[in-house]
Amino acid sequence: MGQMIAIVGRPNVGKSTLFNRLTQSRTAITNDEAGTTRDRQYGKVDWNGKEFSIVDTGGWVVNSEDIFENEINKQVHLAIEQADEILFVVDAMNGVTDLDDQVAEILRRSTKPVILVANKVDAGDSLYNIAEFYSLGLGDPMGVSAVSGYGTGDLLDEVVLKM
Ligand code: GDP
Ligand code: MG
Repeated sequence: MGQMIAIVGRPNVGKSTLFNRLTQSRTAITNDEAGTTRDRQYGKVDWNGKEFSIVDTGGWVVNSEDIFENEINKQVHLAIEQADEILFVVDAMNGVTDLDDQVAEILRRSTKPVILVANKVDAGDSLYNIAEFYSLGLGDPMGVSAVSGYGTGDLLDEVVLKM
């Protein structure tokens, strides 16, 4: 089935936008039955001849501003269990939040490779502030913009390197 890469992170950091960018999909599936709009969760990527799957874990549980912390924790634990690599997305416009700290703590205990992705570096001075994400203890933050595509090629290179 190939390698599976999971995107995790608190709501609104840009997980779905990044997923769409990396899988080049512009469509979302609407789940009328549940009365909710859900983003497509799984996609395939072919990067320089390497094929792998990406999953947007934001779709696994209800994704809203007031998401329960333990739902996020559940996402992260599932991602660690099921994925070969994890993209931990944080928001460079907002900086480190308590929820980021909490997710990072779980990920630091995982043996799966984690890539720290500082998204939204297109906004204002955010590219210059990503050094604060070193405090999460997960190595170098990679600055990207899911909206413009900036840095996403380097990110995919890193994903393939860590396979
Ligand atoms: P999710 O909840 O983590 O899946 O986040 P979404 O992908 O739904 O994005 C949340 C909000 O952030 C939306 O308004 C997006 O348009 C915005 N957003 C996502 N990526 C970027 C980015 O790279 N730059 C900027 N400026 N906004 C972004
Ligand atoms: Mg989402």
